[in-house]
Amino acid sequence: MNQNFEEVSCNYCKSKSYRIKYIVDGFNYVQCNECGFVYVNPRLSDDAIKKLYNEDYFGGKGFDKSVEYKKEFEQQSNTIDLNDWDILAIKGFLPKQNTELKLLDVGCGMGLFAYKAKQKGFIAEALELSEFASQFAASNGIKVLRASIESAELKSNCYSVISMKEVIEHLPNPTQSLGKIYDSLQNDGILFLTTGNYNCPERRIKGNKWFYFMPQGHLQVFSHKTIRRFLVKAGFRKIIVTRQGDLLMNFLLKTGVIDINYYKPKSFLKRILFECVRFVNHFISSGMRIYAIK
Ligand SMILES: [Zn+2]
Repeated sequence: MNQNFEEVSCNYCKSKSYRIKYIVDGFNYVQCNECGFVYVNPRLSDDAIKKLYNEDYFGGKGFDKSVEYKKEFEQQSNTIDLNDWDILAIKGFLPKQNTELKLLDVGCGMGLFAYKAKQKGFIAEALELSEFASQFAASNGIKVLRASIESAELKSNCYSVISMKEVIEHLPNPTQSLGKIYDSLQNDGILFLTTGNYNCPERRIKGNKWFYFMPQGHLQVFSHKTIRRFLVKAGFRKIIVTRQGDLLMNFLLKTGVIDINYYKPKSFLKRILFECVRFVNHFISSGMRIYAIK
């Protein structure tokens, strides 16, 4: 096999038994025969993966052309967006306390989420592997350590919140990373994740043309069932998996249904609309928002 590729086993159960589900750009998305987890195999080597996250990637010219992260930071850092609502939702899960809230954003990219958390009163730190992105985040006042979650040395029992938005699917070893995150959270601390949802209608309809299949970087594809299993294995005591991706949540925000001062709208009519949209989204969303409490 070419040295740029490596054969891997299932990251959840270590089984090497799998069946090929989809072939995308010459890569196999396979499903574990033991536990049903979906992952890329063989995949790019760790060294080849690290080289993907350069300036082109963050400008929307890499393997994922759907987001221009630099433009997103410039447009959204000082306007209200879904990140603000996510931070509000996270605060709602935290126990009431007087001490300062400490947040670590893992794979912060250009630092937008950490920047917004800081604006909302968190002591915000971030991890970012990319030299380009970590320098950009640091230039906006984020305390950012240039490291991957695999290599970073994290203090035990340190953070009230650890966030990973659209990151876990990129990690070579989510079992190890979630274990580290669990250890680094305070008791009652929360891990907030967003990621794609394998069990969505769009994947069933579009097959290997599903937009989320980007096998160079999206190494793992979770479903609501498999992400829960990983979080249970890491030790989390309470896990809330919502099948709420960004698309309809952004619709709620733009139409004013989500009130950014409240996790759920106060007005009765908006509350009903909010719950209706979320009910529909549960069945059609390609993404998930997940809250796991230590
Ligand atoms: Zn497995």
